[in-house]
Amino acid sequence: MLRTLTRLLHGRRDAAQLEFGLADAAPKNADELLALLRRLGLTRLRRCRLTRNRNVMVSFGGDELRVHEGYLGAPEHVLRAIVTFVEGSTRAERRAAQRVIVAHPIRAARAPARRDRTHPDDVAIAEKLAAWHQRFNLRHFHGRLRHVPIRVSRRMKSRLGHYTAATAGGEPAEIAISRAHVRRHGWEEALHTLLHEMVHQWQDETSHTIDHGATFRAKAREVGIAPYARRVLATRPGRAEGSQTLGRRAARDG
Ligand SMILES: [Zn+2]
Repeated sequence: MLRTLTRLLHGRRDAAQLEFGLADAAPKNADELLALLRRLGLTRLRRCRLTRNRNVMVSFGGDELRVHEGYLGAPEHVLRAIVTFVEGSTRAERRAAQRVIVAHPIRAARAPARRDRTHPDDVAIAEKLAAWHQRFNLRHFHGRLRHVPIRVSRRMKSRLGHYTAATAGGEPAEIAISRAHVRRHGWEEALHTLLHEMVHQWQDETSHTIDHGATFRAKAREVGIAPYARRVLATRPGRAEGSQTLGRRAARDG
């Protein structure tokens, strides 16, 4: 019994090493990761920084690549996808790479921060929003969007709302709406934000990239909300041209 288990474990390690080209162990820091990515074809970027923001997987701008530390142990096909995300020449190629990157489960070094709960005094608002989610789902999405929990957040001060995709680690998708937003801007605006986040949910559930790109704008127009939003996931204002961020979360900024 013990012997079998040992052999199994050995077998698994050998397979992992094979994927990296036999002798290579997984990179242990940013420099080693960069060296490996360059061997896999990365040429554009010369610096690499590891991040711990669980909502950002990979981003780059200038000559720097920022990668969540959870990718240090990623298998070769995921690392190749990172290279394609940076170097890919067609949008389809990069989009396929994004899917591979996002599908890789990230284990946070620290215990993940527990998500906020809706404050007991805000439960009525959350329930009202959930009822509207159902209504909007039938009205604009043929009732095909999944049921997702809707949370009212007292912590969100500058953002109006956000949609967070489910993680491979088992955290479910959710929509959060800022309580300050509901109070300050009123119910109509809050419903607009809810619908905005539902377009992100639709992007997620139909395997589109969660962003504010052309797909988002077309769908936003279709459901009757403003097709613009401050771009949080794609090119950020004030950042180098061609800078890209790939994340799990899409937020509507005020
Ligand atoms: Zn958005």
